[in-house]
Amino acid sequence: MRLILLGPPGAGKGTQAALLSGALKVPHISTGDIFRSNIKRQTELGKMVSGILESGGLVPDDLTCKIVKDRLMKDDCHDGFILDGFPRTLPQAEMFEKMLDENNQRIDAVINITANDAVIVKRMSGRRMCSCGKVYHMVSHPPKKEGICDFCGSPLYIRDDDREETVISRLKTYHDQTSPLIGFYSRRGLIIEVDGDKPIKDTYEEIMAALGRKA
Ligand code: AMP
Repeated sequence: MRLILLGPPGAGKGTQAALLSGALKVPHISTGDIFRSNIKRQTELGKMVSGILESGGLVPDDLTCKIVKDRLMKDDCHDGFILDGFPRTLPQAEMFEKMLDENNQRIDAVINITANDAVIVKRMSGRRMCSCGKVYHMVSHPPKKEGICDFCGSPLYIRDDDREETVISRLKTYHDQTSPLIGFYSRRGLIIEVDGDKPIKDTYEEIMAALGRKA
């Protein structure tokens, strides 16, 4: 099963991709995670892209496509993959289609997770992280003591790309550069639209039903 998850930042692509990866037994590939891990390890790639991620802009298409190509060549992608956050521009989608054609491969479906901008800004700007890995939310999952982790007592922080101004900039990038992909994949008859404003489990069940699988 080869799937693409499309949708604005904060629509729940990462959460759904992780669930689908477990159920369908194919790897979850997130270009955002690849970039963040390189930034953390201070690799050459990380140094090249850290400013771009901070500003809410996009990493150049050629570089992004090369990284995806290298990742998809790994053995674990033999039976399929779930792409989360790629492609994100029309040139990336075109390059990716060519890449698949050369390997006689096809995408089975593109899941478009819809979500309202105002809900996204509220969801993402309320998120708080702890260095121990726990994640909180000011509205839906606040810590017992404001700004302090319930588990380890460390101060909580806001991830750079969750800052309200960055979220607004990422949404603009999505509307300008990524949303045209809905038309691109609709013309190929691949789009499955699901509602990302619903609870996680409901959205997941909707996706599995559309794929003809039992949740
Ligand atoms: P994500 O975790 O998917 O929201 O991605 C975080 C950031 O990584 C984005 O805001 C972009 O700066 C960068 N990024 C992730 N995927 C891509 C892509 N396909 N093309 C360009 N930049 C990307």
